[in-house]
Amino acid sequence: MISKKHWSPGSDVAVQSVDRSESGGWIVSGSLTPSGICPDCGLHSRRRHGWRRRRLQDYPAHGDEVTVDLAVCRWRCQAPACPRRTFSDQIAWIARPFARRTSRVGEIVSHLGHAAGGRPAERLLHRLGLGVSDDTVLRHLKKRAQGTAEPPTVIGIDDWSWRKSQTYGTIIVDLERRVVIDVLEDRDVVTCTNWLKRHPDVEVISRDRCGLYAQAARQGAPQAKQVADRFHIVQNLRQAIEEQMNLHGRATGRALLSDADNITAAGSLLKSRLAHRTSREEIFTTIHALRNQGLSCSEIGRRAADAQRRDRECRRDRRREDDR
Ligand SMILES: [Zn+2]
Repeated sequence: MISKKHWSPGSDVAVQSVDRSESGGWIVSGSLTPSGICPDCGLHSRRRHGWRRRRLQDYPAHGDEVTVDLAVCRWRCQAPACPRRTFSDQIAWIARPFARRTSRVGEIVSHLGHAAGGRPAERLLHRLGLGVSDDTVLRHLKKRAQGTAEPPTVIGIDDWSWRKSQTYGTIIVDLERRVVIDVLEDRDVVTCTNWLKRHPDVEVISRDRCGLYAQAARQGAPQAKQVADRFHIVQNLRQAIEEQMNLHGRATGRALLSDADNITAAGSLLKSRLAHRTSREEIFTTIHALRNQGLSCSEIGRRAADAQRRDRECRRDRRREDDR
């Protein structure tokens, strides 16, 4: 049994109860310390002015969602000289103001969004017991991106999928600090140019070899040096090697055969493909016939394996006879 303190989203939160929610998750009811500290004068106060509840999504437990139901108090400051009359419990280390999830969950959402993108991150988070939409993942990414204070000088720019193979945006990364600076709605030259114009400190742009970002860089940041990033160089090299290998592999194969052999080889290939397809169709029909007879799956598997073995032996014998 997990003790109550293990359900706490932070060391200052005392857990009162842990219950099952109607949706099958867990509700952790907790409260903070029984007194507050005035942020202006630093005096402790036990005079409660009021309280409200904040519901925060927290780390999942055993694959189920966990919601922390936290009682946040408002206290009266009793120092006569203090300009502040009331103040609230400080929970910035648990969750940001108006946030719907704890900061530690927000960190995970940002990391997954950065690594996998909106939709894949949403699917992964659901599997982990964190119901977070792809819009939220993107919002976290953007918020994190806006947190960078100093203007970027060395950036990486590449396309980024909002929905894989359907809609693409543009991701811009500060390569010195290794953080995402911005995620643009599309991968349009005008959008990228405008972004670069708003960031005149950019000195180096690492990009793929697509003309779109090259044009945007020329128009939006003519002062910047454009470089091809390592990933795309290696990718291009691999593609070039594959193309050459395929080309020369086929040519070498053809050169080893005479014209007559070439025609025979093409005929044999066609025949073998047709035979392969026919044999697969036969297996499919046989399996369905056996299933209709009421045979079990294991029995069908055994018979199909026997039939395939007999078929292979038969073909081998035929080839031997042809060779003679
Ligand atoms: Zn005070």
